[in-house]
Amino acid sequence: MKTAQTIAEVRQIVSDARTDGATVGFAPTMGGLHEGHLSLIDAARGECDFVVVSIFVNPTQFAPGEDLSTYPRSIETDLAACEARGADLVFIPSVETMYPRQAVTSVTVSQLTETLCGRNRPTHFGGVCTVVAKLFNIVLPDKAFFGRKDYQQLVIVARMVEDLDIPVEIVPCAIIRETDGLAMSTRNQRLSPVNRSQAVALHEALQSAGDQIREFHRPARDIITAMQEYIQANAPNGEIDYIQIIDPQTLQDVETTDRSLLIALAVKFPEARLIDNMLLDSAGQPQ
Ligand code: AMP
Repeated sequence: MKTAQTIAEVRQIVSDARTDGATVGFAPTMGGLHEGHLSLIDAARGECDFVVVSIFVNPTQFAPGEDLSTYPRSIETDLAACEARGADLVFIPSVETMYPRQAVTSVTVSQLTETLCGRNRPTHFGGVCTVVAKLFNIVLPDKAFFGRKDYQQLVIVARMVEDLDIPVEIVPCAIIRETDGLAMSTRNQRLSPVNRSQAVALHEALQSAGDQIREFHRPARDIITAMQEYIQANAPNGEIDYIQIIDPQTLQDVETTDRSLLIALAVKFPEARLIDNMLLDSAGQPQ
């Protein structure tokens, strides 16, 4: 496995791989790698000849007062994990490499960015789209692998690629969970033991919402109210940011539940804001 810190090195290594006819798969990450990230590498390994991972805590997707300075960083163990899972190249740029000067160009995706996480994080997806577009231009992958854990990000990046004719296929990957159901996240490690055990209520609320939809197709409003009550009772240290039931493509709220939909939530614990979601088909079966 190679590592590269500069854009020129990445371009050279990827172009050398391509001269042998290799297809290139790419998994962008912010490090603090766990099985969720590593499942993206596995998927890329399964579908592409040459696998690139990036590890970059992108400052432009954090607003002032968010957790940029305390975001968990573990580069040595991350590199070992990438190597063990068969990555070919890990790109670890510095902030100066990615942003050598104050940029005057950025990528803005409208509408899809204005709901869910975008409501309380209005600058977040602009930062994400701009850095992902830059990384695509640096790595030039055939396929890029994104987790459904960050469902809104996945939809936004896929739309950006379509609208800007970026020649990459976006491959969605399943949410990887801890044994008690909590969606894996780099930020989970910051939770106190009490809040870590309360956090399991997020997935439990999603599961029971799924059950209610499958069996009774209760209206979205009722499901959301039941989820709010469950989380308030079982995760009292968490403050609900949002719980929404939406169309999986447009991300617009839906009222009825006899259709394919996404239940998405964000809950803020004192140490970390957690997100999770569940995608259901029109029969209420998890996807
Ligand atoms: P991050 O390092 O948080 O920016 O995440 C990098 C990529 O890993 C994104 O595509 C995430 O959706 C994906 N990812 C993070 N956590 C999980 C998880 N628990 N299951 C699947 N993919 C994940």
